[in-house]
Amino acid sequence: MTESVTYKNILAGAEQQGDDDKGYEEAYLGDHLRFKMRRDGKRFWAGDNISDYLHEGDIEKLIDEATPAFEQVLDALLIDRENDPNSKGTARRLAKMYFNEIMSGRYEPAPDATAFPNDSADRYEGMLVVRSELRSMCSHHHQPVSGVAYIGIIAAEKLIGLSKYTRIAQWCARRGTLQEELCNDIAREIQKATGAENLGVYIQATHGCCENRGIMAHSSLTQTTVLQGSFKTDPGAKKEFFDNIKMQQEYASK
Ligand SMILES: [Zn+2]
Repeated sequence: MTESVTYKNILAGAEQQGDDDKGYEEAYLGDHLRFKMRRDGKRFWAGDNISDYLHEGDIEKLIDEATPAFEQVLDALLIDRENDPNSKGTARRLAKMYFNEIMSGRYEPAPDATAFPNDSADRYEGMLVVRSELRSMCSHHHQPVSGVAYIGIIAAEKLIGLSKYTRIAQWCARRGTLQEELCNDIAREIQKATGAENLGVYIQATHGCCENRGIMAHSSLTQTTVLQGSFKTDPGAKKEFFDNIKMQQEYASK
């Protein structure tokens, strides 16, 4: 396959120049990045963030490389992309949509969440529950996942802006995900950003792969919960979290 030839070229180029970032100019950037991630043992599953491997301008190159690949898919589906006016340009639209929108959380670094100190005498010690709208995509079928995450923390030594909870949740969601994984990912990233040990994430979502195909269940709803620290061990904290969610659901704009 062309891929292995490309890897050899990359290796040769890297050896000659003594720099593993060089020598890929003639090769596909996608091949080069895959090579580097495999070499480093870096996982690059649909739900993984690979922004550390990308440089300025790489996304545009990757979109250019993905466009003919999507053209091949359309051709394989026997869609006349030359004469069908609605299918002209679809391959490029798909390439851009994957990189810039529905999977953007794989390629962009974590949102900047400036932390503010919460260590004065009148520090906030209560529970904070934020409702975040989510749009994601299942990695099994590439069908849309749509729902809401409720993120609860007991404030620790620092606080982040309220909109940052949703930015972090969306950054985790804009990938190919499983809802179970997504719940864990959001909990981990919120923990990193806030330093809170006591936290909970509850997601309620509908899945295109259950609605548009397969069982065609139009009202299916999937719920997942991750609880850590006192949210897990203290029934009072757990109840307060779920009571907050119920109140949010009652007052949230439908
Ligand atoms: Zn699915």
